[in-house]
Amino acid sequence: MKYVFGPVHSRRLGLSLGIDPVQDKTCTLDCVYCQLGATAVKTLKRRVYAPADAVVDEVRQVIATGQPLDYSTFSGTGEPTLNVELGRMITGIKAMTDIPVAVITNSTLLHLDEVRSDLMQADLVIPSVNAVSAQVFARLSRPLPGLDLPKMLGGIETFSRVYRGRLWIEVMLVRGINDGPDELQELARFLDRLACEKIQINTVTRPPAESDCTAVNDQTLEHARKMFGLRAEIIGSFSNRTAALPGSDPCERILALVRSHPCTLEQICDACGLKREEAEAALQELRRRRSIEQAEHGAQIFYRASGR
Ligand code: SF4
Repeated sequence: MKYVFGPVHSRRLGLSLGIDPVQDKTCTLDCVYCQLGATAVKTLKRRVYAPADAVVDEVRQVIATGQPLDYSTFSGTGEPTLNVELGRMITGIKAMTDIPVAVITNSTLLHLDEVRSDLMQADLVIPSVNAVSAQVFARLSRPLPGLDLPKMLGGIETFSRVYRGRLWIEVMLVRGINDGPDELQELARFLDRLACEKIQINTVTRPPAESDCTAVNDQTLEHARKMFGLRAEIIGSFSNRTAALPGSDPCERILALVRSHPCTLEQICDACGLKREEAEAALQELRRRRSIEQAEHGAQIFYRASGR
């Protein structure tokens, strides 16, 4: 499979089939906390990064196996809304199954009518809002010069008013960057204006692009939760498990998992249903092939796909 990975079991989405419609870490941003590493292709250009027919066909193949799924989720290795055929992909998937479609987006293109229109067909959209002041946004997400934060925030607000599906806003907090009282206060004011079901507060729980980027502590998470109101909840602890696709071997399953989520050995065992020795053998083989690499974060060793 080129565009589809998992399924991954997450606390938020249950058993979720990952769909990567842009590939190769193509994104509008280059966030310091990004678990996928530095952005390889930084662009604002919407185009066909993966053809809709090929993506839908891969999802069809997984569904044909009878694999139980709670969501098909567009996320993967970059910003899904950069793919100009995203709307066609969502429509194509919804035409063949009742499994709900989710899209995780960094919100940067939500000011575009055509992007909002593509997303209208999804059952769940999870846009991120991590900063409301230009200075903080620049430090946190290193946007391209053409990206206008007020326009982007306006796009989120407009979308929240017209969208009829489930809308969960994600806020990623990074110590020393967007956890100051002024920024949190302004964020709370902005979030108040959004018509959303939930506000999910996250922090840096996996190895980030920049090694000096660190998580906020529990008190800050709790403080933010109170400030953001009754819809807010703290997420951020990794609890992924995955159900392996029938017939896939341990190396493929591990690689599919760590392409989008750097994981510890324990998380890999849990996620892929492997015994410790099986996972260790597969990791050794993946290291031999130079398909994975190790990174340390919070006194733990994480494995991730090479070059991330
Ligand atoms: S965290 Fe998301 S928005 Fe930021 S660089 Fe990574 S993929 Fe792009």
